[in-house]
Amino acid sequence: MINNINIVDVETGKTAYNQFVLIESSRITRIDSVPFKPIDNSLRIDGTGKYLIPGLWDMHTHSNQHSEWLHHPLYIANGVTGVRDMSGQLNEKDSYWVGSKERLQWNKELENNTRVSPRYVLQSSYQMDGEKAIPENSPNFFKLQNRLQVDSLLQFYKNEKVDFIKIYAQLPKDIYLDLAKKAPIYGLHIAGHKPMFLSLEEAVDSGQRSFEHGRIFLYECFPEADSLKKTNNWKDYFSRSKKKMVKQFDSVRAKELMVVMRNNKTYWVPTLQTLKFEALAHKDSFTNNENLKYITKIRKKLWWQYDVDHNKEKNIENEGVNVSEQFYEASKKQVAMAHKLGVPIMAGTDVTDSYVFAGFSLHNELYELTSCGLSNVEALQSATIVPAIFSNVEKDYGTIEIGKKADLVLLDKNPLDDIKNTKSIKGVLLNGVYYDQGKISELKKFSEGAASSFHMNVKTLVSLINSPLIRVQFAD
Ligand SMILES: [Zn+2]
Repeated sequence: MINNINIVDVETGKTAYNQFVLIESSRITRIDSVPFKPIDNSLRIDGTGKYLIPGLWDMHTHSNQHSEWLHHPLYIANGVTGVRDMSGQLNEKDSYWVGSKERLQWNKELENNTRVSPRYVLQSSYQMDGEKAIPENSPNFFKLQNRLQVDSLLQFYKNEKVDFIKIYAQLPKDIYLDLAKKAPIYGLHIAGHKPMFLSLEEAVDSGQRSFEHGRIFLYECFPEADSLKKTNNWKDYFSRSKKKMVKQFDSVRAKELMVVMRNNKTYWVPTLQTLKFEALAHKDSFTNNENLKYITKIRKKLWWQYDVDHNKEKNIENEGVNVSEQFYEASKKQVAMAHKLGVPIMAGTDVTDSYVFAGFSLHNELYELTSCGLSNVEALQSATIVPAIFSNVEKDYGTIEIGKKADLVLLDKNPLDDIKNTKSIKGVLLNGVYYDQGKISELKKFSEGAASSFHMNVKTLVSLINSPLIRVQFAD
């Protein structure tokens, strides 16, 4: 029982004060404005002066074989009770990436209260990027070299209980269109990046349900956008002048595309944290982050430091004009435009990219979304009810209502007054189980200890070296 709590309604933006909430096993069974007789042996939580919000969802993450030590405790400690994981596997268990098998097992154990894990909503395939991203000895159909292989791929992932095919930049146009057309026949959808060989409008029209990252309109709405689609060189595609994209941005075209997205109910997950990193990598005030203690030395040395140095150099050599910062600011303006025009926005962070921290960064993303012009309640929606609707599970998640799952966050302060108040976490309910302050600091300590342990660092290194998927992804 949670007594005398203030419930934040993320749909209306109103607060219902001094409420009494009953949770039985994993669901909310009663909400009342007057106290009711306590059930014997029930855990009674005093909610006086506190605020209750639905568990937050991070709609763009990448988990791996070490997430149960390094990420899951931090998600829960931060009130992130659901994630949409954007990675996957091929036919074999990968030493580094996880697939639907691991994630569905974690979900089952969470449901039995034998594991501390966020809910993994919507299972992803491995990223489909044409033949280059597939290790040589994998079954041929993963390479998607012709349309006959599309059915084999869809059948394979249907059997793996995957929900969507993750699209990547280099997928050939005819294959992409065929995949988009046939996916629904197998009960799947497509989501992810926009392939570089076709326009955003074509991709939206083909039924892709979500587009990831802040750059999508910048790459699409400038005079040379069409010539980008003719490239067959990935590096060329991404090294095109960001300066030009910002300077010559065609906001009329962007608005047209946003309207098409709204009309098709296409979602956008801008993952602003990644662009923010690129923009601010040269600043010590940004890179000196207290959460670095949750990151393994191996990741910091092999991956993050390389990213910092590379972006630092770029930002400094641009003679006072930080193009990455302009790019970041421009994409924020586009989030504001898209939101105004009715494109559904979802909060996502891109954990484990550089300087993105499991759990912690979602709160920063919510703040960033408000700085783009979303109201506090709209930012909350982007991590609660909007993702629940996107995932087709609004019957069980997304708001605080009788019958829904008890994934809830208790806050000291009202996030409707200031979105930063989502960080004032007093307690977390996951599948009806309560984590108080003591448990929350245990969770954080656990991940901190794992990240600094020799054992975990060796394990991470070995799993990276042995992963054929990592080898092809970092080949170029
Ligand atoms: Zn990602």
